[in-house]
Order: sequence, then structure tokens, then C-alpha cells
Amino acid sequence: MTITKKLTPFEEVNLFFDRAADRLQLPDGCREMLRRPWRELGVQVPVRMDDGRIEVFNGYRVQHNGARGPYKGGVRFHPQADQEEIRALASLMTWKTALMGLPFGGAKGGVQCDPRQLSEGELNRLTRRYTLNIEHLLGTNRDIPAPDLGTNSQTMAWMMDAYGQLHGHSPAIVTGKPVELGGSLGRESATGRGVAYILEEAAKNLRLNLQSLRVVVQGCGNVGSWTARLLHENGCRIIAVSDVRGGIYNPRGLDVPRLVEHKMAGNSVTEFREGDSIGNAELLELECDVLIPAAIDNVITDKNAPQVKARVVMEAANHPITVEADSILNDRGIVVLPDILVNAGGVTVSYFEWTQNLQEFRWEEDRVNEELRKVMVRAYRAVHEKVTSEGINYRQAAFEIGVQRVAQAVNLRGFV
Ligand code: GLU
Repeated sequence: MTITKKLTPFEEVNLFFDRAADRLQLPDGCREMLRRPWRELGVQVPVRMDDGRIEVFNGYRVQHNGARGPYKGGVRFHPQADQEEIRALASLMTWKTALMGLPFGGAKGGVQCDPRQLSEGELNRLTRRYTLNIEHLLGTNRDIPAPDLGTNSQTMAWMMDAYGQLHGHSPAIVTGKPVELGGSLGRESATGRGVAYILEEAAKNLRLNLQSLRVVVQGCGNVGSWTARLLHENGCRIIAVSDVRGGIYNPRGLDVPRLVEHKMAGNSVTEFREGDSIGNAELLELECDVLIPAAIDNVITDKNAPQVKARVVMEAANHPITVEADSILNDRGIVVLPDILVNAGGVTVSYFEWTQNLQEFRWEEDRVNEELRKVMVRAYRAVHEKVTSEGINYRQAAFEIGVQRVAQAVNLRGFV
């Protein structure tokens, strides 16, 4: 397939959506309703900087679809977090929550900024201002934000506090909070744990032996570091890991607990001594069994897809593979397990957190992990079953399941 014009991230996700809608034979009107965001808000986020200046950032909240329940999705603080990217990510949340069978719609928010350049005080003020400016869209039964790239449990604590000043104590307004403020045990590791559960299942079908499986992880933030840690515990050989500054490679396998400790202490992966340094681009082309992009979008493109040497690529990040690259990998017989399945552990435990908050009851961590396993395995099996019975790829199957469920909800509600 050749695409001449460069597509925006939202157009890219919509190509995946359209392929699902085509095979499901959705009528044009329904398709249009599902493709476009139901509501979007752009706000300015003025912040008093530590040096006294006022800087004005762009903020967004896109509520893509609410047919199956309250809007749900993270908030991203990143220089590339513009409206088109947030739209794309909001749309992915719609298909993800539907695929996982969670009673939510899809949303995403963001502030276009580089959080690494901001002090703690500046981040606190930015988060509060953003929250107040989108507050009229939020609600424990309307729209429930969570962490994403560049945000974390501290960000959620500030959001909850800002919202609470207007509405009273409302822990269910955000998920991914600190445990001390009503966050769920197991939420922080949930996305990585979900990746590990999916790989365990996929290994059975793809005849991969988890023990000694050579795995490359791009990204060492929350998702990348937990994925590497848990796969290492499962016996996989993690041969390379990277962060924004570059990577480290050891074909005999990295000592992941030590690497993560080193990273948590505020160092870069590149300063870890027990391996050879390697660039991020090179890392994606390493000979391995499983390649896991766990950082940002669009890292595997038509340029490097022909050089990918993995047998399986697992999208732990959202939309790390462009549409063109996806076709190249498929044509080369590389199995691509899609983001809306692979990284859904995060939003799944967000759902558990929200239910715990509404019930004012806390689950033990073992229960969280066991329930997470059930949801991940059920979704994987549904996708795999469609892949084998209909001869389509995993992304197509995952999108078809998600899109069909949302279309059904729209029809049952009788909006139009
Ligand atoms: N940001 C995560 C995602 O992309 C989690 C969203 C949530 O927990 O609501 O799936």
C-alpha cells in the first residue's frame, strides 16, 4: 500500500477503524458517528512560572465516544500533545475499553508542554489550571482521567484536589492516584503486568518458549520498566532496554532489577555499565524474538519496518507503528499484537480502582492482579479466536470486536 500524503495520527487510527467498519458493513451514518469525537475542548493553560513570567500552554480534552459508559482515558503532558494526537489517542481508548469489556467510553486529554523542563511547583499549578478549565466536562459518572505519558500518580493527586475544592472529596474522579489517596494497589504495575499476561497467552499459540525468549524493550518509563521487570521474572531474557537518551544491549540478558533500580535512582539507562550502548534506532532493528515499543507513537515507520528482525511486535505504547509500517510487518509475516489489547492492563486496573472508590472498599493486590489476568486472557482469547477463524490479523480482529460493541451500544440506545 502506498500513502502519498502524510497522515495525521487521528487519520491513521481512522484507517484501522475504517477497515473494521468495512468488514462489519457499518452503515455510513453510524460509521461517521463512531469515527468523529463526540465532544472536544481546547483550553489555554496560563501558568505563573517560578521566575515570575506567565507562560500560556495549550490544553485539550477530547471525549471521543460515550455510548458504553463514562468517558475514560489518560492525560498526557508532552511537547507533541496537540489536538490531532489527543484525538487519535481518545479514539484508541474507545476501542480499547470496548475490546476489554469495560463499562467506559473513550477520551484523552493533554497539555502541550515538556514536563521535564518544569519545576514541581510549575507542574502543580499547570495541572490545577488545566483541571479547572476542563472541570465542567468531568464527573465520576461523566469523564474520569488517568495518567499517561509525562503524568503520574502525583499529577492525579493534584487533579483530584483541584476538582475536590469545587465538588467535595471525590476520589473516583481520577484513577492512577497514589494508594494513600484511594488509588488501587497494583495500578502502577498494571500496564506492564497486562503486557506480561498477553505474552504468556500468545506464547502458547505462537509456540514461543517464555524461558530464554529474547526480548527488546524500547522505553523505560512506567510501562517499559514494569514490562521488562515482569518478563524478566517470567524467565525471559531482556537483551536490550532504552530510554529517551539511548539504550543498553547485552545479548546474554540484562540484570533487569539492577537496571530498574539504577533508572529509579534518576540515572539514564545509557549510564548502566553491564552492556554495550546502543542507539534507539539500532535497538528497534535488533535480532530478537519479541520487540516491545513501550515509549511514544510512530517509532516503527516505513523507513525501519523492513529492518525489524523480531518474530512478534507487542505495542505496549499507544500507536507506536504507523499504518504503512504495520502493512510492511504483516507482509513480512511478523505478528503484531495491537496496543488496544497489549497495553489495556492500565485502564483495566483503572476500572478496578474506580469501582473500589465508588464502593469505598479496597481490594488486596492479589485480587487486583488475578482479576486483571482474567480480563486480559479473556480479551486475548476472543481476538485470537477471530484471527484463526477468520484469517485476519490481530489488529483487525481487535478493532472489529471493539467497533462492533460500540456500534451495538449506539444502536441499542437509539440516539438517532
Ligand atoms: N493512559 C492509559 C492508556 O492509554 C490509561 C488510561 C486510563 O487508565 O484511563 O490506556
